[in-house]
Amino acid sequence: MSMTATVTVVGSINMDLTVSTKKIPEKGETILGEEFATYPGGKGANQAVAAARLGAKVNMIGSLGNDEFGSSLLTTLNDEGINTEGVTLVNDVATGIATILVSDNDNRIIVAPGANKKVSPVVVEKYKHLIIQSDIVLLQLEIPMETVIFTVKLCKEHQIPVIVNPAPYQSLSQELIENVSFLTPNELEVEEMQQDTLLDSLKDKLIITKGEKGVGYYQEDKEQFVPGFAVEVQDTTGAGDTFNGALAVQLGSGETIEEAIRFANASAALSVMKFGAQGGMPTRQQVMEFMQ
Ligand code: ADP
Repeated sequence: MSMTATVTVVGSINMDLTVSTKKIPEKGETILGEEFATYPGGKGANQAVAAARLGAKVNMIGSLGNDEFGSSLLTTLNDEGINTEGVTLVNDVATGIATILVSDNDNRIIVAPGANKKVSPVVVEKYKHLIIQSDIVLLQLEIPMETVIFTVKLCKEHQIPVIVNPAPYQSLSQELIENVSFLTPNELEVEEMQQDTLLDSLKDKLIITKGEKGVGYYQEDKEQFVPGFAVEVQDTTGAGDTFNGALAVQLGSGETIEEAIRFANASAALSVMKFGAQGGMPTRQQVMEFMQ
């Protein structure tokens, strides 16, 4: 068991472009909105930042466009102390963005993946040395599925634990399910999984996040439950990302599943008390104080 886990995240890096508005425009309509703001995002980058704030040594493997959003996002990752050796700047493709319309109870989001589509198996092969030195590897589904499957198989081959956060949901191949160590769907994603996968065959790999209620997982076929922490909610964006980053750090440093989930619940609870995905992610010290 290493004191400081090394976590490698293979995943997306986006700039989130948010406009708050009182009303969503109708077809053909132009309206004046409220505030515009940009926030670093993308599930991969969010989870990498969560893990880095919690004290892990983090490697990021991903792709950015050779443009202003790209250089700004690279600076953000470096400032968090993340090793960005595996982040490639790609020409002739834009950095991934998400346009987010924020209105009361109705957020509408379009993601343009751009450079995230360029995270190919060839890229992962090139940075294989980062994966092989890791205590654990963490993936989401905002990069090509063939890359996710390739990475999971590479981890299995080298006996490195690997977590796949199946978001945004896409159906999971048998090859992925057989080779992955843990899957971390939320309640909606697990419902979707049930429609195209026999969950019985992978029960012991499932860690299901259930919002403020907490987290379910299986041990020897029996469902276990780790309750969440009651907090005052500001913004739940990035709760799942904080949870996954924290879970990876704790499992990577040798904690039991139950201990790791408790710590990840505390980390995610702290994150929902502040605005923004990365903005609310806590440090290890904040989590330790909160859990006392
Ligand atoms: P996602 O953000 O992917 O939809 P969840 O809503 O299940 O996923 O949240 C992930 C984790 O974040 C939960 O398991 C829990 O630990 C924490 N969390 C989410 N919402 C809250 C909340 N309102 N209060 C406390 N913890 C929360």
